[in-house]
Amino acid sequence: MSNCAIVGINWGDEGKGRMVDLLTRDYDVVVRYQGGGNAGHTVVNEKGKFALHLLPSGIFRDGVVNILGNGVALDCESLWTEMQDVVSKGVAITPENLKISDRASLLLPWHRDLDALEEARLADKKYGSTKQGIAPFYSDKYQKKTVMAGELLYPDKLWEHLEGILEWKNLTLEKVYGAKPYTMDDLKAWAADFGEKIKPFICDTGAFLRQAQKDGKNILFEAQLGSLRDLDYGIYPMTTSSNAIAAYAPVGSGLPSARIDKIVGVVKAYSSCVGEGPFTCEWFGEDAEKLREAGAEYGAKTGRPRRVGPIDIVATRYGVECQGATDIALTKLDVLSYMDKIPICAHYTLHGQQIDYFPFPAVLPEAKPVMEYMDGWQCDISGVRTWEDLPEAARKYVEYVEREIGCRITYVSVGPERDSIIIR
Ligand code: GDP
Repeated sequence: MSNCAIVGINWGDEGKGRMVDLLTRDYDVVVRYQGGGNAGHTVVNEKGKFALHLLPSGIFRDGVVNILGNGVALDCESLWTEMQDVVSKGVAITPENLKISDRASLLLPWHRDLDALEEARLADKKYGSTKQGIAPFYSDKYQKKTVMAGELLYPDKLWEHLEGILEWKNLTLEKVYGAKPYTMDDLKAWAADFGEKIKPFICDTGAFLRQAQKDGKNILFEAQLGSLRDLDYGIYPMTTSSNAIAAYAPVGSGLPSARIDKIVGVVKAYSSCVGEGPFTCEWFGEDAEKLREAGAEYGAKTGRPRRVGPIDIVATRYGVECQGATDIALTKLDVLSYMDKIPICAHYTLHGQQIDYFPFPAVLPEAKPVMEYMDGWQCDISGVRTWEDLPEAARKYVEYVEREIGCRITYVSVGPERDSIIIR
């Protein structure tokens, strides 16, 4: 038996979904342990091209059991829409291959409203939320003001619980934001529409995972976003509202005693960042436009153009340390093929001094990139499948990154398709 976590090292969108889709061939169970439907994993395989938001990326593999753990923000409405989309493309989703933790808390209809209302109130100081209700959801979860998925199985207890929360929530909606309050009828209609649909998938996934562990099954933990968006270790407050780091995987998945044997950190061969917050290596103008086009850097959920720049060694090294990565998957190396010189943000300067540590969030906006350049390879590498066949300049770039971030690059991805991978 072996457990593995696949995590993002940077700001998210590194290509985790693509790596989970590939590596699930060696695993029996895939668990999403945090976050909600606010980001997207793009997966391209023989069944088609899919933008997954909440579904674990193991959903395409026959025989793999996919779990939404207790740490996720369970949005029944968007989960159901996503399931319908995947099913319409010929992928089977049944209670056998998808299990939802009875301890996952529910994202309720007002969480989305509150997200939008607060972003509107903040105006030009907004967080760049995807307005999926994630921040209001997690703050309510930790205030113990939402309900768990398993409560859908006990309607009488659910209505009683929701009534108390409704009264409290309407105070905020009406008195703070001047918004329309909810009624119990609204909540019952919502539960009848969406809660009922996901009910067959809800079970005690903790018990399932403990048994899987006893049976020696291989378990894969799948993260959303990356180290720099982690609530505790990222660029707070421009973070997400959950823990994207591997250390949270056992807690958020329902197997708190799990030991993780392998942590695959996914790093993109350049940087991208969606939403607000300091992004030291950011490019603007024509250079940014070219890289964005080459890498198709538009959000899977929102279609928003992503901010882009060269690889940021300082941030990536910190991200690797936060994750405790044992292996790195370097993705999208093929995207850099058009460049004659490969740019690298090798260090920062902060208040006139060169530094190699990732600064505290409050002073991070004052950091400036120190650039280095390596030779480009300027040929199509998307068909390369072995390390030896990569152009020397590309190998040198990979080796440089490996040395500087202090972790072995085991996988080099040269295309979005499942087999566009070099395993060293
Ligand atoms: P995730 O959220 O970390 O899974 O990343 P996203 O799915 O948001 O973004 C990664 C994007 O890059 C997706 O569109 C993938 O299909 C694509 N992708 C992943 N690996 C590669 C690669 O090696 N080369 C190219 N060209 N595209 C890739």
